[in-house]
Amino acid sequence: MFESLSDRLGGVFDRLRGRGALTEADVRTAMREVRIALLEADVALPVARDFVEKVTELAVGHQVLRSITPGQQVVKIVSDALVEMLGSDTAELEIAVTPPAVIMLVGLQGSGKTTTTAKLAKLLKKQGKKVMMASLDVNRPAAQEQLAVLGTQTEVITLPIVAGQTPVDIARRAMQSAKLQGFDVLMLDTAGRLHVDQALMDEMKAVADIANPAEILLVVDSLTGQDAVNVASNFSEQVPLTGVILTRMDGDARGGAALSMRAVTGKPIKFAGMGEKLDQIEPFHPKRVASRILG
Ligand code: GDP
Repeated sequence: MFESLSDRLGGVFDRLRGRGALTEADVRTAMREVRIALLEADVALPVARDFVEKVTELAVGHQVLRSITPGQQVVKIVSDALVEMLGSDTAELEIAVTPPAVIMLVGLQGSGKTTTTAKLAKLLKKQGKKVMMASLDVNRPAAQEQLAVLGTQTEVITLPIVAGQTPVDIARRAMQSAKLQGFDVLMLDTAGRLHVDQALMDEMKAVADIANPAEILLVVDSLTGQDAVNVASNFSEQVPLTGVILTRMDGDARGGAALSMRAVTGKPIKFAGMGEKLDQIEPFHPKRVASRILG
């Protein structure tokens, strides 16, 4: 994961550490290289620019340049900023509410929403929670059946399918059913679209009004890089997201989406999808990802 970024930063760091004394010009040259490395990893331009500006300001300070190990200090400043960029601490699911805690998954079609709904349900079930899943996707034929199949595989109950209902109808029925049957968690898999459009946003808001979700998690495909970041920025302007789940991190060699997501949405990445199998999901640990990048 993120090999190329890791290699490039490693090169910059080695050069910095290799020098006894550092001038401001040396630092600025190194920071230009950091900027290029971030942009090549497909980090969003404003995010890369802000990152480098902030780090440069800290690194050209007198304390740093006059210290005994200036290179080492500059490396530390960049490393700390990278951890902060990724989100510092691991963000937990906030589901300590009066049950059922509703977790709503939103995102574009094909981002991995349905798979991720089942993965999370499986994970929560393993933690001893009584979980129900419901698909609100009435647009894509067989979307509701797809979730029912995953429910069978994971032994998680899915809301029985009733033909002809709207997403809001289904959300209302799911809430009633989860309350009556004493479920701890209700997972709502919403309909995707090929692009962000107003009808999708309106539908999402109507469902959120009914279900009052504890979590609204945006599912985005990390492989789409800058697009993933644009989608996240659009969604976060319209729906009160509580976090992001990045799918296909197993195939993401560049890392741009992961690195830009926090700065662009202001929301933490809570989980990373690491494969197609239903147990291939991991809490997102910013420090671990940063240390992988930093080598
Ligand atoms: P949806 O349209 O957003 O509900 O997307 P799906 O859940 O149907 O997923 C689309 C495809 O992506 C399926 O083939 C999934 O198996 C695959 N997929 C989902 N998450 C991951 C992941 O983390 N890694 C990989 N490699 N594939 C994934």
